[in-house]
Amino acid sequence: MHESLRSKHNDRILPGLGALERESELLEGADPREVIEWAVETYGEGLALSASFGGGEGMALLDMISKVTDKVTVLTIDTGFIFKETAEFREEVMRRYKLPVEVLKPELTIEEQVERYGEQMRTCTPNLCCQIRKIEPLQKALNRYDAWMTGIRREQTPQRAGTKVIAWEERYQAAKIAPMPDWTEAQVWDYVRAHDVPVNPLLHQGYKSIGCEPQTRPVHHDEDPRAGRWAGIDKTECGIHVEGGKISRAGA
Ligand code: SF4
Repeated sequence: MHESLRSKHNDRILPGLGALERESELLEGADPREVIEWAVETYGEGLALSASFGGGEGMALLDMISKVTDKVTVLTIDTGFIFKETAEFREEVMRRYKLPVEVLKPELTIEEQVERYGEQMRTCTPNLCCQIRKIEPLQKALNRYDAWMTGIRREQTPQRAGTKVIAWEERYQAAKIAPMPDWTEAQVWDYVRAHDVPVNPLLHQGYKSIGCEPQTRPVHHDEDPRAGRWAGIDKTECGIHVEGGKISRAGA
């Protein structure tokens, strides 16, 4: 097990896999702001935040980070299928928060994707489309970062139940930091209200979890917040947060 790692873009010596495991145990149950402070101090400008501008978690995290530093880069993926409201909201938010932002785009346009893989790729045939439009752009961006933060929480999906505060991700060759893994949905919204954090306007229109337009629908008040994502399809994740989860192109 590596005890230390060298940063991808400067001479900083970073904690290795064993040290990350120990730190993760120490930070278990800590306030998310404590985890953020540790991450900013440890990784400096080698740290990024991945945000979709769709849920309250990412926005709460963005707000917390902006109170600690103005150096963390916000990575956000524009799949070409996102809601117009999400794109407009992203622009508005980034005028308010002074963090650098990188909008990641897939290598293929939707038209090129359809031409290469078939007409079904226009209407969100999952897995291959998520691989091309979400996972690969993030993977490419993370080649330049040592660590990335995400607002995922354990109660969101069964795949997220084992989320660690800090974990080494082999496929991204970067540490993944989840500052609020044990927060409940109520805690997220308490933070949003208390700190006047802006949220995607679609969240006030019956949506509770927002991804790409073709497979996101509003949910009833008694439904699971993520029930509106990929409804009717055996899929709850795009693959970004699935452990060891490279979705194979051959499987499309
Ligand atoms: S959520 Fe649907 S449209 Fe968006 S990248 Fe994945 S498969 Fe494509």
